[in-house]
This record gives sequence, C-alpha cells and structure tokens, in this order.
Amino acid sequence: MNSPEIDHLIGLLAKLPGLGPRSARRAALRLLQQPQARMLPLAAALADAARTVQSCSLCGNLDSRDPCAICADPDRDQTLICVVEGVGDLWALERAAVHRGLYHVLGGTLSALGGVGPDDLNLRPLLDRATAGGVVEIILALGATVEGASTAHWLTDRLAPSGVPVTRVGHGVPIGGALDVLDDGTLGAALRARRPA
Ligand SMILES: [Zn+2]
Repeated sequence: MNSPEIDHLIGLLAKLPGLGPRSARRAALRLLQQPQARMLPLAAALADAARTVQSCSLCGNLDSRDPCAICADPDRDQTLICVVEGVGDLWALERAAVHRGLYHVLGGTLSALGGVGPDDLNLRPLLDRATAGGVVEIILALGATVEGASTAHWLTDRLAPSGVPVTRVGHGVPIGGALDVLDDGTLGAALRARRPA
C-alpha cells in the first residue's frame, strides 16, 4: 500500500524504544507532512550525531569530544568516581545535579541469563583510573537488582587492590535498575545515603 521508502521509514522508527508500529506510523506521517520543518532537520541531526558522537575513552560517556565534557571539566571533583550501568543513568544523575564528581559507565551488569560476562563490561579503564592515584572514593550506583548486586560485589573485589574506598548508594532506596525513572529528590537521597561496599 505504501511506497517502499515510507515502509522502510516506519520499519526503522518502529525499532526505537517506546515506539511500536502504531506510534511509528504516526511519527512517520508527521515527518512526511512537514519535510522542511521536521524531517530534514532530524535527518541532519541524526547524521551529525552518528558522525561525531563516540564513547569517551576515559569514562564511557557519549560525547562528540574525547575526553567527554564531564571528564574535561576542571570544576568537577576529580577525586570522586560514580559508577553507573549506562549513559541513561549518567544523564539522570546529571539532570538531578546530585553528583559533582566524575563518572564511569560500565555498559551493563553481569548477567548469566543475558550472557553478559566480565569481558563485556567497561572495566579496564576503571581499574586504570583507580590505580592512577588521586581518586579517594568510588561510588557504585548500580541497580538494586540481583544482577546489580552481584556486579557490585564483583567490582568491589576487583577494585580492592587499588586501595580506593568503594561505597554503594543507599539501601532501601528503590533503585530498580534504571536510575532514569527516579525523581531528583530520590536520586539525591540515594547518593547521600551511601555506605561502604
Ligand atoms: Zn568522560
């Protein structure tokens, strides 16, 4: 019924998180009806981001610069590193403005079921940062899931030789995986209520 170009567009949009086929059709229609105002700027932004954005070689954040803007910011507290599962968690903490130190994006959690092992996580740069000196605390802000807890234990063991104190965000705070869904007050409380790992 549709042209192949339109079907292709809808098919790609439907693969985005939160968009099923129905939402993808609506989004495609909106774009197609306003090519100058919506579609071409979006296409340009996608191409621009695809060309320039990469993982920060220090922390794993996404940015068009390497090191990323956070790692390169001299006003951030260089002695604190907050370890998160994904960039979405980093964004949530930044939106809430509850952490003024640096980050480390692990890229997931250990999961036997999901087939995620130690080699799949962004660990080596974190160990390097911990042993390089100057870091006084590493805060684990991982999900309160089974995977998050076992990953925290594993990380604490791996970081022990560095001698840097490792803490975990507050117990009883409902971090159920993505920090992204928490409000700013809860995120702040979780970070303030951290305890030794
Ligand atoms: Zn960085």
